[in-house]
Amino acid sequence: MQNQFENALQQLDKAAKVINLEEEVLTQLRTPDRILQIKVPVVMDDGSLKNFEGYRVQHNNWAGPYKGGLRYFPSVDLNEVKALALWMTIKCSVAGIPMGGGKGGITVDPKKLSPGELERMTKSFARALAPNIGAQVDVAAPDVYTNGQIMAWILDEYTKITGKEELALITGKPMERGGSAGRDRATAMGAFYVLKALLEKINLNVFETAIAIQGFGNAGGVMAELCFADGIKVVATSDSSGGIYNEAGLNIAALMKHKQSTGAVTGFSGATSVTNEALLELPVTILIPAALENQITGANAERIKAKYIIELANGPVTPEGDEILAKNGIKSVPDVLANSGGVTVSYFEWEQNIKNEKWTEADVFVKLKEIIVPAFEDVWNKHLDKQIDLRTAAFARALEKLRSLWYNDVRKKFNN
Ligand code: NAD
Repeated sequence: MQNQFENALQQLDKAAKVINLEEEVLTQLRTPDRILQIKVPVVMDDGSLKNFEGYRVQHNNWAGPYKGGLRYFPSVDLNEVKALALWMTIKCSVAGIPMGGGKGGITVDPKKLSPGELERMTKSFARALAPNIGAQVDVAAPDVYTNGQIMAWILDEYTKITGKEELALITGKPMERGGSAGRDRATAMGAFYVLKALLEKINLNVFETAIAIQGFGNAGGVMAELCFADGIKVVATSDSSGGIYNEAGLNIAALMKHKQSTGAVTGFSGATSVTNEALLELPVTILIPAALENQITGANAERIKAKYIIELANGPVTPEGDEILAKNGIKSVPDVLANSGGVTVSYFEWEQNIKNEKWTEADVFVKLKEIIVPAFEDVWNKHLDKQIDLRTAAFARALEKLRSLWYNDVRKKFNN
């Protein structure tokens, strides 16, 4: 099993070298500010008591409150959460939003819980988190297998404890509880703007582009819809049940209906089945991993035939995988840029709550585009200037901004 945090540190160190980052700044960024390891007791439906393992890692808050999702998944562990928190710091800095990096989760398969158990587990987690979170301290959001309902339960429990409702405590809330228009589609929308900007750079039109998307959830499914609506061929996609492939392109609107009625993408008519491993190796223009970490590694990177990768998932390519892709001339738009639409619109939700405003979806997407396209340009230029891969360029730009926060502001606090 790959150590995610070691991977994240390797990426950090590599970029630090490119910009000659001072040792003291790097040292601060290599270690999270705070790690909360939390016992989450829950009374199960059968009356027994079960303890789940929960985490919240607050990595860095130089730019603003810690910000990052909560993940409910069986493979969640401290190393994964630490890596994801570090990536959030970098991601917010790449996008240039005034938020820091954090992440949390519970080691659990939520599909095996009843709705009541899920609610009690979430509220138990919220009670343990309460002393260390807050709208100006640490702002959580949904991630894999968590959603707006779960965020609303956390808000409810926090409100019960503090006695006042602080909507900006958490983002990704349902609309009627102060959520932002467009949040559900924000991650994919951001990646779609990045995709269009990339196609422009490489002079490809939408009709010459074939895409494979691993994962058909919140991020991957919406990305597939946006591509399909724009005339871009999505030839393959998958979920935890397996994958499907049609060289001529899948009808994503029909596939959405199929997934809604059967719960899976497999069994869709007009497509052949393909394993999740084989999907990654299809001859496409652009491969979009949108499910889990560590999908492209030293073991399979040599077989990747896509010319470009857009990382919609967090951490889908390992450092060994990166090296092989670079050697073979395959460019990867890194997660810290490609999926930053999610945290950017989360920040918009936080801002709307703080200012007591409500923005329309159209406003939200215009503002998102105004942030993510220049961020892409900035990273693209850095990679050309320094002749480095896009991930290192994104980290380098993030570190330059963090360095100036450290020297212009944060460091002074430790000098009195
Ligand atoms: P999700 O739970 O909505 O969807 C995950 C998808 O992956 C599902 O379709 C699931 O069936 C599929 N999947 C699970 N195991 C798989 C496997 N072994 N092979 C192929 N597919 C598999 O989650 P999401 O929100 O879409 O998140 C997906 C990725 O995007 C994660 O890495 C997440 O951290 C990242 N991300 C999401 C957001 C967001 O706003 N949703 C923001 C930034 C990053």
